[in-house]
Amino acid sequence: MSKHMPPAHPFDDDKLKEECGIFGVIGLTDAANFVALGLHALQHRGQEAGGIVCHDPEQGFNSARRFGYVRDNFTKQSLMETLPGPLAIGHVRYSTAGSKGPTQIRDVQPFFGEFAMGGAAIAHNGNITNADALRRELIERGSIFQSSSDSECIIHLMARSLQRNIPERMEDALRRVEGAFSVVAMTRTKLIGVRDPLGVRPLVLGQVGDGWVLSSETCALDIIGAKFVREVEPGEMVVISDNGVESHFPFRPQSPRFCIFEHVYFSRPDSIIGGRSVYETRRQIGVELAREAPVDADLVCPVPDSGTPAAIGFSQESGIPYAMGIIRNQYMGRTFIEPTEQIRNMGVRLKLNVNRALIQGKRVILVDDSVVRGTTSRKIKEMILDAGAKEVHFRIASPPTAWPCFYGVDTPQREKLLAATMSEEEMRDHLAVDSLKFISLDGLYRAVGESSGRNAKCPQYCDACFSGEYPVAPSDMIEKGFEVKAAE
Ligand code: SF4
Repeated sequence: MSKHMPPAHPFDDDKLKEECGIFGVIGLTDAANFVALGLHALQHRGQEAGGIVCHDPEQGFNSARRFGYVRDNFTKQSLMETLPGPLAIGHVRYSTAGSKGPTQIRDVQPFFGEFAMGGAAIAHNGNITNADALRRELIERGSIFQSSSDSECIIHLMARSLQRNIPERMEDALRRVEGAFSVVAMTRTKLIGVRDPLGVRPLVLGQVGDGWVLSSETCALDIIGAKFVREVEPGEMVVISDNGVESHFPFRPQSPRFCIFEHVYFSRPDSIIGGRSVYETRRQIGVELAREAPVDADLVCPVPDSGTPAAIGFSQESGIPYAMGIIRNQYMGRTFIEPTEQIRNMGVRLKLNVNRALIQGKRVILVDDSVVRGTTSRKIKEMILDAGAKEVHFRIASPPTAWPCFYGVDTPQREKLLAATMSEEEMRDHLAVDSLKFISLDGLYRAVGESSGRNAKCPQYCDACFSGEYPVAPSDMIEKGFEVKAAE
């Protein structure tokens, strides 16, 4: 492990982790400053490391990559002065898609390549499901990889393309790539955004003054005062230059399969997805959950922060009062303290504390966004009972997570997912709670605006972590022995 790398998080909150956020700006003086702000707003999509590449007509390309939070690195004047120019892209990352080991600084994006027609940098959100096969092929043909990231394949495929310019080389490269990709890229004069044909991961276009912005989420447009223009469409490439925005559709069209978990958990509640407020969708999930799984109780409490909007919806629909029964310490940083054994054992208590005076003697409904391994749910239940609650009922704002994600989300192996090995009733016994209910897949689809629920023949979203129906076969994993669910 690099000595600059933060320690692994000792207070595992047992959540799926989105692996990346991406952001790019063209046409604004000192674009890197705006990128730093955008990445700060996207920090929830990756806290391990961040990087910025920029271009200045006089000074050429410059870059900086750092471990840790954006606010701890990219706010320093001494660093930002080394990142001049009107064009910049950036990336925040959580995890190690591809390497499955500790992150090295060379894994931190954006990646840069020098081509015959000039330099280009790319920042990728998602996961390439045929990256192992591509890497093997590229290495056999002479490519020298710098990192262990799947995303680097894109740069090498671009280097091998015979197309005349960088956007066309990107198209060429991305046609060979399977899986999920939202990409922000730049040349000396262009900002480029691409979404895979299924549109699994988000990407939006914004405008501020004479400048244009690409971002994983709309919340990062707000921070720099940019107005939301539109989403980059699934399968679309936008090329932005002094001439404005050009749009291409270089891939074979397919029915979109946006990640439904972005609505449940990954995206920030103040973002807008598909014209819908994420907060409102989550509140609606709580409404559906209260209809599907009512229970007689005294209080509805969210597991903060991600369970909050669904708990509000549950309370509104059921008429049971909403209360902040659990308080979250907002200041738990990754580098807060060295994790000794004794501190590790404190686990979730370091992050969450029960509002004892409120809970005592009450029948409590706890609303959480998901159950992954169940470790945190168990500890929270113990804390609530220790505080004197009479009953604990879990209501979960997503269906049981029974399958791993291969599209840019860090998931435990399938055997570690509680729902992969237990029925709902067995999970309730395992967690030792009075009741446990998950929203149904149809209920979740209704909450995201599909009034007749999930179209079983052709689902409107990717929901593979709940259904096991992968919209793109995870070919590298299948080669390693992963068994995809057989079609019904
Ligand atoms: S498998 Fe789950 S988390 Fe992954 S893209 Fe699909 S819905 Fe999202």
